Amino acid sequence: MKQSQMLIPTLKENPADAEIKSHQLLVRAGYIRQIASGVYSFLPLGKRVLRKVEDIVREEMDKAGAHELMMPALQPAELWQESGRWNTYGSELMRLHDRHEREFALGATHEEVITSIVRDSIKSYKRLPLMVYQIQNKFRDERRPRFGLLRGREFLMKDAYSFNESFESLDESYTQMFNAYSKVFEKCGLDFRAVIADSGQMGGKDTHEFMVLSEVGEDVIAYSDTSDYAANIEMAPVVLDYPESNETPLNLEKKETPDQKTMQEVADYLGHDLNQGLKSIMFKVDERFVMVVTRGDHETNDIKLKNFYDADIVELATEEETRQLLGTGFGSLGPVDVPEEVEVIGDYAVEKLVNVTCGANKEGYHYINVTPKRDFKVKAYADLRFIEEGDPSPDGQGLIKFARGIEVGHVFKLGTFYAENMNASYLDDQGKSQTMVMGSYGIGVSRTVAAIVEQYHDENGITWPAHIAPYQVHLLSLNPKKDDQKQLADELYELLLSSGIEVLYDDRKERAGVKFADSDLFGIPLRITVGKRAAEGIVEVKERQSGKQDEINQSDIIDTVRQWFNNK
Ligand code: ATP
Ligand code: MG
Repeated sequence: MKQSQMLIPTLKENPADAEIKSHQLLVRAGYIRQIASGVYSFLPLGKRVLRKVEDIVREEMDKAGAHELMMPALQPAELWQESGRWNTYGSELMRLHDRHEREFALGATHEEVITSIVRDSIKSYKRLPLMVYQIQNKFRDERRPRFGLLRGREFLMKDAYSFNESFESLDESYTQMFNAYSKVFEKCGLDFRAVIADSGQMGGKDTHEFMVLSEVGEDVIAYSDTSDYAANIEMAPVVLDYPESNETPLNLEKKETPDQKTMQEVADYLGHDLNQGLKSIMFKVDERFVMVVTRGDHETNDIKLKNFYDADIVELATEEETRQLLGTGFGSLGPVDVPEEVEVIGDYAVEKLVNVTCGANKEGYHYINVTPKRDFKVKAYADLRFIEEGDPSPDGQGLIKFARGIEVGHVFKLGTFYAENMNASYLDDQGKSQTMVMGSYGIGVSRTVAAIVEQYHDENGITWPAHIAPYQVHLLSLNPKKDDQKQLADELYELLLSSGIEVLYDDRKERAGVKFADSDLFGIPLRITVGKRAAEGIVEVKERQSGKQDEINQSDIIDTVRQWFNNK
């Protein structure tokens, strides 16, 4: 393509709202443009990169035995009502009416649509397992669309679904998808980890997220410093035997703690460390009120709480609800003498403590010398806190460290949730009706593009991996006003094109400095510059990533380029 004829609107400055490199560089280099918050156009360079990632995904999906199809983005509300998600999905689902006031949603994901199709067309075990996928725009009214392509409201996703006869067969499909995902992200050149994740709303159990390691990631990964254990910190279990205390329990005493609100303020006021206080937080777990007690220096983990109760919804109780139940606000809560409507559960770390402090459920008062075993009842002790760096790794090998990650893919055993709600069944080899077992598998294609830029850039621009870049070669004619330069550059352009090499030709009448700067910004892996030595048939070839450059003869160009890409 000739650059003079292409829509590549570069910018000198970073857009004001772009906080992270991928957002800044993709906009500045003219790959994308924002149309509304979280909604982007892919301009020609951006579209080419997107397609490269799509092609990698397609190749691996096809190899895994999945078949491509395409479902509508516009989905009738009835389907979502059947699954139950019309009510549970919440305000992330984009909803709209047609002219007859019928309700629709824009597809946030396609479990309902695919289940309705398969249930109507597959009746026998002989047709299972079945795997399908599509690559399509999804719509989610995210609370905080941000970071450019990382969290959009309309974004490109590959979603795949498996339909199986049994959980054993689902395990096989899941493993196939898991392996395909690993290949996709390897081919994208990404440094990533597959981590154990929470199954969230969908009612499944086994699930992994593929996380690209990056400082700007919104997720935190807990990984072992010696083994390959890695989990989303939401999920990583704490396996610790807390030691018995050898302190003698003293008498429980109520102390005045005027105006001391936070854990730290109370600890300072009473003269002890944070870990000698109890943190009590009131939650609403489905319909019941639960007080969760952890050690003062630990972070309460609401996902573990949700899993402990197998609950649908876990949220913080409001201060007003708390006042009604306990007669006091958030600053002075504690588990001693709570009314029966409140269930108390404690983190394992609390069980063996002796002589610690907690709120007295009276404004401005705390108990000291609290000994949990003696002074309050719990429904249970359980693992209810976030894992921390330095905790033992749950697989028994090494210690936990943290890293931040961008979730680019998610493989998920759905089980029978959708099949049951939407009546997807088949006849087994005995002629008996059985419920189908499902899996779902997503890749954020547009998010992956941004994740690649996060890992591949330098101070001058993007440094694409060889097989992701929009073009293989960026051909520059430094001074097209000079006949010999223009002529050689034109010739090389035709030669590269006819040799099947993807080339972007900067034929613009711009200063050399502008051309070099743009070229660095775009990040195309090889740059061929036709300059002063054009008359001799000598050009310069430069690698974008390493900066390595060489002068070579025009007759060696095609071989050099081919070899370079073959070695990548
Ligand atoms: P997140 O926790 O980041 O919101 P999710 O759990 O909602 O992700 P899934 O429903 O599993 O995501 O969707 C499959 C994939 O789609 C994700 O792994 C991610 O790569 C991508 N994705 C999800 N939401 C967005 C978004 N708002 N913008 C871009 N990509 C997204
Ligand atoms: Mg989400």
